Amino acid sequence: MTLIDFAAPSIGSDFDTLRQEVRDFLAQELGDYPPELRARSWNGFDADFSRKIGDRGWVGMTLPTAYGGHGRSPLERYVVMEEMLAAGAPVAAHWIADRQSAPLILAKGTEAQKREILPRIAAGTCCFCIGMSEPDSGSDLAATRTTATPEGSGYRVNGTKLWTTFAHKADYMILFCRTGKSEERHGGMSQFLVDLKQIKGITIRPVIDMAGEHHFNEVIFDDVLLSGDALIGALGGGWDQVMSELAFERSGPERFLSSFALIEQLVAQVRHDPTEQQEIEIGRLAAHLMVLRQMSRSVAGMLDRGQNPLLQATIVKDLGAIYEQDVPRLARSLLSRPSQSASADSYTAVLAYTVLNVPSFSLRGGTREILRGIIARGLGLR
Ligand SMILES: Cc1cc2nc3c(=O)[nH]c(=O)nc-3n(C[C@H](O)[C@H](O)[C@H](O)COP(=O)(O)OP(=O)(O)OC[C@H]3O[C@@H](n4cnc5c(N)ncnc54)[C@H](O)[C@@H]3O)c2cc1C
Repeated sequence: MTLIDFAAPSIGSDFDTLRQEVRDFLAQELGDYPPELRARSWNGFDADFSRKIGDRGWVGMTLPTAYGGHGRSPLERYVVMEEMLAAGAPVAAHWIADRQSAPLILAKGTEAQKREILPRIAAGTCCFCIGMSEPDSGSDLAATRTTATPEGSGYRVNGTKLWTTFAHKADYMILFCRTGKSEERHGGMSQFLVDLKQIKGITIRPVIDMAGEHHFNEVIFDDVLLSGDALIGALGGGWDQVMSELAFERSGPERFLSSFALIEQLVAQVRHDPTEQQEIEIGRLAAHLMVLRQMSRSVAGMLDRGQNPLLQATIVKDLGAIYEQDVPRLARSLLSRPSQSASADSYTAVLAYTVLNVPSFSLRGGTREILRGIIARGLGLR
């Protein structure tokens, strides 16, 4: 009996040429990029780097050529993403736009939105942030309080968004807010395209994380006027739109490669003379990584075939976060005190960064408890 259909992954040798091109490019671009910056994984922000990979045709790969994209398959995009993440490339400036804002705009945006925004995303020059969470609404998105009230031909927005990654650098936010009555719960939600660089009345305040870094923000909308053409999709259709974004958000290789820089550092430290325990545990890590990779590729294949793998994507994210979070614990138990050398300093720096960041891996993109509720529902258990 098959409870969950993870279709056979179908990335084959056809993509070896593309993979090699990306590897060659990354070796040249990031030759002396330090391990402690590679450890930032998809949180590393470098607008110039995003523009360069846009020039190579590796952003907006699956978008139609009519909108500046490259008409390539999700599986080709997958190859590029996993090479970028494995190398610790600084992809944050285009990551959210490429992963979820572009597919949303392509599916639900107006023709004008598609023509204006998609070519800029594909060029790697347009940065997006996600305005979903609020001070009193994270897991329970339906409790969203930010409102967009119809006014003239547009909307007046009031409310506060929280934990908005890179709002301070982004060109646009996809704002999720209430346009209907609170009794409507899901039916009264809509999404808007908000130009953060042009529109007045938006205050963006930094929220410093426990590693001392600034990527989170609080974004306050104080009587902000949006024109009618800022609406994405149908008025009141925001809930369904957000739900279909989540399969894109949850299944990619970024959901199990966030600690990959640490695995590489660990292997580099012990490879010449490993103990038996180090061999066993690193072998186990590699085996788990391969299984997660197969599952995640399978979801990419399902998206490619137009299926809706929300359940499968949720499972990948939950198992991926467990894996990513276990890496620093294991690294510390296998190699707590490396020998003195420059490479040992890199190992320690990458370990320290990863330790401070792993708690967030099972919060961002949906907390562990919420994911397990979705999985239980998908299995018919609730
Ligand atoms: C690194 C990072 C980046 C982020 N970036 C963004 C971003 O760019 N844009 C954005 O909008 N948000 C972003 N977030 C916010 C993230 O989506 C929320 O933190 C998350 O959805 C949880 O919401 P919350 O923090 O309000 O916690 P709460 O929803 O208050 O949850 C607190 C705890 O209660 C548990 N809980 C809540 N409800 C239930 C339930 N029904 N059953 C069982 N347990 C429950 C949760 O699992 C959690 O452990 C980011 C978060 C992180 C960590």
